[in-house]
Amino acid sequence: MKNQKLLLEDNKFNAILPLISDGVFIIDRNYKITFFNKMATHISGFMAEEMIGERFDKKLKFMPKKDKKNNSKFVEIVKKVIITGKIKKIADDIILIREDKLKVEVTGNIAPFKDLEGKIIGCIFIFRDITKEQEIDRMKTEFVSLASHQLRTPLTTIRWFIEELYIGELGPLNSEQKDYLKQVLESNSRMIKLVNDLLDISRLETSRLRIAPEPTDLIELIKSILSEYLPVAKASNCKFKFNKPKAGFPKVKIDPVLIKQVLINLISNAVKYSFNKNSEGLVMISLDKKGKEAVIKVKDNGIGIPEEFQSRIFQKFFRADNVYKLDTEGTGFGLYISKLIIEASGGKIWFKSVEGAGTAFYFTLPITGCKSVLEGKNLSITQ
Ligand code: ADP
Repeated sequence: MKNQKLLLEDNKFNAILPLISDGVFIIDRNYKITFFNKMATHISGFMAEEMIGERFDKKLKFMPKKDKKNNSKFVEIVKKVIITGKIKKIADDIILIREDKLKVEVTGNIAPFKDLEGKIIGCIFIFRDITKEQEIDRMKTEFVSLASHQLRTPLTTIRWFIEELYIGELGPLNSEQKDYLKQVLESNSRMIKLVNDLLDISRLETSRLRIAPEPTDLIELIKSILSEYLPVAKASNCKFKFNKPKAGFPKVKIDPVLIKQVLINLISNAVKYSFNKNSEGLVMISLDKKGKEAVIKVKDNGIGIPEEFQSRIFQKFFRADNVYKLDTEGTGFGLYISKLIIEASGGKIWFKSVEGAGTAFYFTLPITGCKSVLEGKNLSITQ
């Protein structure tokens, strides 16, 4: 009976796997290949006949893009999957050296392969060639970068001329004319902000993010942003409360310009998404030390993020639909950029939110300091 069941499972398995449009191969606990599908041959250039029975890493060289001679890290990952039984991702920056020595960028998963009793008997690799996708993505980012650069100069020129008109350089204006020009100026500012955001993103994505850490007083940094934003908070019927650590805080080596940008994104969002003319909003900021990390929290009692949108909040361009009802301006870039910056600085960012009750964003920074990145680093965002 058990043998029959096994046979049935085996047949199903053998029927399905060759049809999968991803590369699939299976190894046993000794890392020897027991199955190699057609797509795996297509991507790697190696034939199933020459691979089956061989240790997978003898011919299949999966390496980090930046360390093309190092296959051993990948073998370590495989070992972990077999020991822990946890699925591991073949991250975006892994390349595979093909049989013809060409390099292809791959992504996918390595999962434990179990027998019917649930015992781990090896690993299954499911991977695909993303060389073209990555190329298109790079082209798209380059295009956005180029287009944003080209747009910035005329937008700044427009601003300059309108400002001249507005302040009456060419003669006095009546109040209606001034009002019209004010609206044009506001729209122009929004466009400049959008273009700057696009430029920031393409800089971050095309590996040109420079991290220049310097010992920074986080208390002072937060205080300076709060005083800069106080007028905006007042206009939005909102108060700030900063819970400073009582015993002070050691200076942390971070890039103050980048971390300031993250704090501004979080604090201005907290204000923006709390606006209610009938009740006063409260934005609380705290800074704490937990183990080897500085933890910063920005909490509001605003509209919150509906549960169904919470998993998408760090995606580029994403805005939850409750913010549209509030009539707020936004591009959906701020949190995407913030996540890129925090992860590149060695920290983490996350949030807790209840729709209608408020949101708390948290991020960490290593107290030991961020690594300096002078030439720019390849970044990939984790979702
Ligand atoms: P933007 O604010 O320009 O739309 P962000 O990337 O900063 O873009 O934020 C993305 C989305 O996350 C917002 O549009 C909003 O839906 C949600 N969000 C961010 N912060 C908050 C907050 N404090 N309260 C409620 N929603 C928020």
